[in-house]
Amino acid sequence: MSEHKKEFTILITDDEKFNLDILGSILSPHYNILISKNGTRALELAKLNAPDLILLDVVMPDMTGFEVITKLKESNDTVNIPVIFITGLSDPADEEKGFFLGAVDYITKPFNKAIVKARVNTHIKIIDQMRTIERIGLIDPLTKIANRRGFETRMNAEWGRSIREQTPISFMLMDIDKFKNYNDTYGHQQGDVALKTFAETASHTLKRTNDFIARWGGEEFVILLSNTDIQGAEEVAENVRKAIESIDIPNEDGYITKVTVSIGLNSVVPTAETSTDDFIKNADKALYDAKEGGRNRVVLFQE
Ligand code: GH3
Ligand code: MG
Ligand code: MG
Repeated sequence: MSEHKKEFTILITDDEKFNLDILGSILSPHYNILISKNGTRALELAKLNAPDLILLDVVMPDMTGFEVITKLKESNDTVNIPVIFITGLSDPADEEKGFFLGAVDYITKPFNKAIVKARVNTHIKIIDQMRTIERIGLIDPLTKIANRRGFETRMNAEWGRSIREQTPISFMLMDIDKFKNYNDTYGHQQGDVALKTFAETASHTLKRTNDFIARWGGEEFVILLSNTDIQGAEEVAENVRKAIESIDIPNEDGYITKVTVSIGLNSVVPTAETSTDDFIKNADKALYDAKEGGRNRVVLFQE
């Protein structure tokens, strides 16, 4: 990120001028700032200016922040803009709802200036990395998600961060079950449709911007979950497995096709002595066990 040129634009939405002023003063030295005092205006500005990030209050008179994010996610123009809620609602149920609706972060008021700044910077960094990955050809052309090289770039960055911050990192290796049969039955072209549907469906189950999906190769995909422990990762893996099992894959002839997926899961708090190679290898062992155990299941690697 350049220190001199403001490269990123942040839309701040809050019905209270006081909050707008503080947030503006924290962020305007580093970012272009757009301001709106209500949800209707926020939606207009989001569509018109395509900001890189939106800070959104929840309780506002005309339209709640929850309604605003729902509308943002409904439109192709704004669906990919990350949203951070900044709100006086501190009930965990509200926070959960915020994440459920697709927010990338949730900050409660009264907020600490340094924390707001740090979290915003983190999300902007992620956005910046994603754009680099797109620009330098690290995207799989069929599924439009990251390819293996894109994944490796991201893995190295997140692994280093996990070591520094001593936070857990989780990895899912996913292999579509009996996919050779699927190709043999419906044809290779329909196989490609299934792979695209798989990537889309799995992506949609991921709620946080940091969650990273990539095509590993063939009918194998991976998901990297930063700052996510075993319990969290098992939940995500099970959500992906169920979503894949329940999705109807469209077929030219009008009938419904299905696939299932086996998932090997590994979760660690890495140290300088551990390697990403072993981390991945152990997820592969768990995947092998998932296949042996009858497929369409999640297996967690255990020493
Ligand atoms: P298992 O449950 O053990 O994973 O069985 P499987 O049939 O999925 O495993 P196998 O590795 O034998 O077969 C993978 C198949 O995936 C074979 C290949 O035709 C298919 N495949 C790999 N890449 C592509 C692709 O890009 N497009 C299509 N249509 N098929 C692909
Ligand atoms: Mg395979
Ligand atoms: Mg397979």
